[in-house]
Amino acid sequence: MSQPGVIIVGAGQGGLQAAISLRQEGYAGSVTLIGAEPGLPYQRPPLSKAYLTEGNADALVLRPESFFSTKDITYLPGTRVEAINRAARQVVLPGGARLDYDQLILATGTRNLRPSIQGLGRALDLRTLADARRLREVLASPRRVAVIGGGFIGLEFAAAARKLGHEVAVIEAEDRLMSRVVSPLMSDHFKALHEGWGTELHLGQPAAAVDAIGVTLPDGHHVSAATVLLAAGVCPNTELAEDAGLAIENGIRTDDRLRSSDPSIYALGDCASFPDPRSGRQVRLESVQAATDHARLIAAQIAKGADAAYAAVPWFWSDQADRKLQIAGLAGPEATETMIEDGIVARLDAAGVAALETVNNAGAHMRARRLLAGGGPVTLETMRAAVLKTAVCI
Ligand SMILES: Cc1cc2nc3c(=O)[nH]c(=O)nc-3n(C[C@H](O)[C@H](O)[C@H](O)COP(=O)(O)OP(=O)(O)OC[C@H]3O[C@@H](n4cnc5c(N)ncnc54)[C@H](O)[C@@H]3O)c2cc1C
Repeated sequence: MSQPGVIIVGAGQGGLQAAISLRQEGYAGSVTLIGAEPGLPYQRPPLSKAYLTEGNADALVLRPESFFSTKDITYLPGTRVEAINRAARQVVLPGGARLDYDQLILATGTRNLRPSIQGLGRALDLRTLADARRLREVLASPRRVAVIGGGFIGLEFAAAARKLGHEVAVIEAEDRLMSRVVSPLMSDHFKALHEGWGTELHLGQPAAAVDAIGVTLPDGHHVSAATVLLAAGVCPNTELAEDAGLAIENGIRTDDRLRSSDPSIYALGDCASFPDPRSGRQVRLESVQAATDHARLIAAQIAKGADAAYAAVPWFWSDQADRKLQIAGLAGPEATETMIEDGIVARLDAAGVAALETVNNAGAHMRARRLLAGGGPVTLETMRAAVLKTAVCI
């Protein structure tokens, strides 16, 4: 029998942060971090950015091996948890071994969505370090590349592939780029940029079929490509939780303390859906910020009995060629948009400014984050004054 304590399932960005934060908060019980992938926990964001062009895998590792022994954290890489027995408070490992827990943290992340596209088995993924290694091999010689999906990851990959000198086409089912995450104005801004960088864009066209020489679109047009990347979104890894009878709602459903429907089980990061503090809507975010801030809140509850609702302002970034897109806040589908100045767009709803989008303007992004973190509603006038640093009478 193992010594009960905290078990963390998933050793990605959020799972590792939970282990780090438990020790930082003074938790003295046993901490076991279990990850399905081999090797040390690593960061994914560079996989679609610097890693593709530079190939430095060491720079991705989040903590060295020595960290785990120093902090007395048991790390089990290459181990996929197969089941949770909630009645016995145990997780089941391959081969049937069981580990006891007092508290369980689910940090199982997401996997690529696989839309029903004929021949999709030919397309490559970009989710793990192994995927990115494979893509680097493929990109070692000049070729024409098609990307299915014009979201953050597809466009980051497209920009990196152009930088490496490849011909690139992006195929996007919606009629604008990054439609799930940015305003129409910002979509237009990046459409012009990618076209200027020489990327061919096919918008409003879901890929219909992939074959050895490219991708066929619904209108019969064939986009020729030797390599096809699938970057059409993700789905949360909720099966473990679902099989254990936990509530699921576009992710493992949690309350504002990030507790699942079983109070001894928490969920964090990409696999968790939680109440957005501003709108009250149940949301699931795919960002390093959400995963690590969730982890810190959960660790403080377990280690010190802290009892605060999750209230962090969401923020996101995407590096596409020499442009850093940053988003402070979270806008719902009903949001309208206003350009504050070129490269700065505010998204508004009935309660005021919900989010601010900036390009290559870290100062404005940080000021927007601070303002949104203040708690109360933010008017467009206040946001404009803050990001442009002008005086305003309140
Ligand atoms: C190419 C790429 C680029 C990105 N760029 C950005 C960016 O610029 N900015 C940003 O904010 N975010 C970015 N993201 C998203 C960001 O990486 C994720 O939001 C973040 O990693 C979420 O952390 P997580 O801990 O929830 O999940 P993950 O980091 O995905 O970790 C989940 C882990 O759980 C493991 N797992 C799943 N099931 C089990 C099981 N049963 N047993 C054991 N282990 C299991 C998985 O194998 C995985 O290793 C990017 C993601 C990718 C793929």
